[in-house]
Amino acid sequence: MLYCARVFAFLAGVGVSLCTLSVQAVTVVASIPPLAMLSQSLLQGTNGVTLVLVNGKQSPHGMSLLPSQRASLEKADLVLWVGEDLESWLVKPLTQLKCGQLAMRDTSSIQLLPATAVQQVKMRQKAEQTGSDEHHQHQGAWDMHLWLDPTIVQAYVGHVRDELMMRDAVNAERYRQNARQLISDIQQADAQAKQLLEPMQTEPLLVMHDAWRYLFRHYGLTQGAMVQKTPEQSIGAASVAQLEQRLRNGELRCLLREPQFEPKAMDWLNALAPNLNVAMTDPLGSANYSGGYAAWLLDQAKAISNCQKRQ
Ligand SMILES: [Zn+2]
Repeated sequence: MLYCARVFAFLAGVGVSLCTLSVQAVTVVASIPPLAMLSQSLLQGTNGVTLVLVNGKQSPHGMSLLPSQRASLEKADLVLWVGEDLESWLVKPLTQLKCGQLAMRDTSSIQLLPATAVQQVKMRQKAEQTGSDEHHQHQGAWDMHLWLDPTIVQAYVGHVRDELMMRDAVNAERYRQNARQLISDIQQADAQAKQLLEPMQTEPLLVMHDAWRYLFRHYGLTQGAMVQKTPEQSIGAASVAQLEQRLRNGELRCLLREPQFEPKAMDWLNALAPNLNVAMTDPLGSANYSGGYAAWLLDQAKAISNCQKRQ
């Protein structure tokens, strides 16, 4: 890694990155847990290590890097991240280090969803806080929760495999096998998830932040409404009244709860709709989760499908 960084520093003046060196052990730094899960599977059987920046307790929507996270980045032979609309806090550090990075949003032939109004407001706020990206508005903003679409993820795995093979030719065959296995695991989980979620297609789901649109698009599910951290925080008075009405009517019967959700909002929801079913989901995953991406995806599908069964 050091060698790689040194070569790059030397060549930086001519704008060439020479991180295509064979190294003893590849260090992959992933921005969020689902990308780390992919990396762990791909590195299996090699001496490679995966480090993750957002551990599942923080939000990737705008944060600042701790010194320890910066140190991790400096060790990276390859950085896996989603893209600047999500991790604007990574843009500057990546241009400084740039030993090699692969954004999920740069995966070829994927269909991005435009950002929702709420997402756009958040992006603008975060960009102001971190002092980045005035050009954002000109480019148009995109929903960046791409890791929740297994089709996009499979395509990305192919790109990551190729990057690893370039860096570590000795283990090329291993990466090829691991990628084949990982894609087959994802396809299997996807098929099971499809079966589980089909009966949910008619159920408008209440979500806590609009993380789910790629998964909903993939499985034909519908977002019924969104409630955030505390009701006052991000919903106007009119839409709160509307949401209350729909909850009282029993029109929204299933909430996708997330670990970060504040109990205060749960109390509010329970008071309005005591029979609301709650699915414990985890759209960001956790750094401690060891089951791998395919199992994590299936966990989400199971949680959502159980939400209906309790009715
Ligand atoms: Zn999110």
